[in-house]
Amino acid sequence: MRQTAHLVFSLAALFVIVVGVASAQVPNTQTPKYDLLLKKGHVIDPANGLDGQMDVAVAVGRIAAVQKDIPVAQAAKVVDVSGLYVTPGLIDIHYHVGHGGAPLNWFAEDSTNHEVAPTTGPPEQLAPLGIPADLALQSGVTTIVDAGTAGAATFLQEKEEVIDHAKVRVLAFLNIVSDGMNGGLEQSVDGMDVKRCADTILRYSDIIVGVKTAHYWTQKPLDDLHSTWAAVDRAIACGESAKVPVMFDFWPRPERSYADLILQKARPGDIHTHVFAQQFPILLDGKINPILQQARNRGVIFDVGHGAGSFWFRNAVPAVKQGFVPDSLSTDLHTGNFNVVSMSNVMSKFLNMGISFADLIRRSTVNPAREIHRPELGTLSVGAEADIAVLEELHGHFGYIDCGYAKMEGTSQIVARMTVRAGRILYDPSGLSMVQWEKARPQYFNIPMLQGSLPATADSYPRN
Ligand SMILES: [Zn+2]
Repeated sequence: MRQTAHLVFSLAALFVIVVGVASAQVPNTQTPKYDLLLKKGHVIDPANGLDGQMDVAVAVGRIAAVQKDIPVAQAAKVVDVSGLYVTPGLIDIHYHVGHGGAPLNWFAEDSTNHEVAPTTGPPEQLAPLGIPADLALQSGVTTIVDAGTAGAATFLQEKEEVIDHAKVRVLAFLNIVSDGMNGGLEQSVDGMDVKRCADTILRYSDIIVGVKTAHYWTQKPLDDLHSTWAAVDRAIACGESAKVPVMFDFWPRPERSYADLILQKARPGDIHTHVFAQQFPILLDGKINPILQQARNRGVIFDVGHGAGSFWFRNAVPAVKQGFVPDSLSTDLHTGNFNVVSMSNVMSKFLNMGISFADLIRRSTVNPAREIHRPELGTLSVGAEADIAVLEELHGHFGYIDCGYAKMEGTSQIVARMTVRAGRILYDPSGLSMVQWEKARPQYFNIPMLQGSLPATADSYPRN
């Protein structure tokens, strides 16, 4: 038996040699082991303690290997990423999708939104708050978490219209207010139904990772219908019931201090987003306010949530220089800021404040994954879904702005070059993974007769 096997092996080897000599190349009759191989990138995977030059191989939508010198012959598609960083797909835990405060029939012709706006006072209806989920791919982000745009009464619509159709992974914090965010809806204490909130979270626990409270009673005097801590207390009650963290968007007032929020109300694992907004006493006489470290010692999490009105260099720069860096970086992207803010932009600001590239990746991958109790995300562990960002650090002169219309100059900028989600190349605007057009396979030069005939593409790698 062993002799027969040896003979078969020898004949096969002879065949390979003869054919190899005849055609000057070894025929590749086997299906390659990997679908995709990213060669010679600088891999940063904080969850696994990796920081150095390595190759990353993908098979059937999952990470198959992360090691040095994986042979190119083992992969159907090889992408040279030398000079670039290869990191887990980034996680942005403060994003907005869906309608928000707009009426649910906003797009319908008979929507009240299309009525003439009043000449005085605020408009009666607002345009949708959320932006397309897949815009996140432009920054190497593969998981976004909607931060309370929808509440229990509007979540299903958001799920069916946006979440179920997005290419990027969309998770959500559920607004404690059943009607969701914006347009004054978050002022209704009656609308903060703890049981309905918790029931919805438990029913959609594959998507909903926490509770959000925001924008509650920030201007007018408190009254019988609006008690000081109603929104925070009810959000925490829902979080307790559904066993999930709460994300706070908060505005202190004389009756409720920031210290009370982070030292008394917030539970370990709860998240204060917008930490560098104008309204927080981050500094006392130029020094870091000690309540921040006291809150950290209790397990309270601090998140950036940059947004259109929640990031001031006067807080961020001195805080970071003194060693207080938010646990997670996030954008708070919505229709009011998406053309200025992005995850790359937020990360670039912190890079220019002196945070190392590897530390930025930690605060954009493994940290947010832990905060939303999804430790399987934000890592390149073998077997994980192949969510990958290929990032470049540019050097030059760059300007960065905050929400107080002040700027900070810097010498570095982070840009995403390629984004892979579950093994599919969904963002590659400079063609890192593509062939020079003159060298494309014959099929590329076809003029298709009918839609559905052989597509005129240079390769067949899944790209959408
Ligand atoms: Zn927000």
